[in-house]
Amino acid sequence: MGTFGPGEEDRIGYVVSVGVKQDEPPKTEKCATCGKSVYAAERMEAGGNVYHKLCFKCATCKMPLKLNNYQQNEGKLLCKTDYQKEILAKNAQICT
Ligand SMILES: [Zn+2]
Ligand SMILES: [Zn+2]
Repeated sequence: MGTFGPGEEDRIGYVVSVGVKQDEPPKTEKCATCGKSVYAAERMEAGGNVYHKLCFKCATCKMPLKLNNYQQNEGKLLCKTDYQKEILAKNAQICT
């Protein structure tokens, strides 16, 4: 008994297996400093951007920064010292 002819089930199996390809590339985030891909082991996040741990440093003096002592100015990472200097310099320009 049965309505399946010979080979019928094989054909169904074949259709399912060639159905949808699922090899989307994994989503990689780009470092806001160097623009290269950031992987989980070296990833850190600050101010809505993603960085390599090694790229999370002051743009001016290259001092490594921490999440609790960094400053951002127009997308640049700065230590507190250089941030103060940039802000002071800017204010000085406006005033003179
Ligand atoms: Zn980087
Ligand atoms: Zn600095």
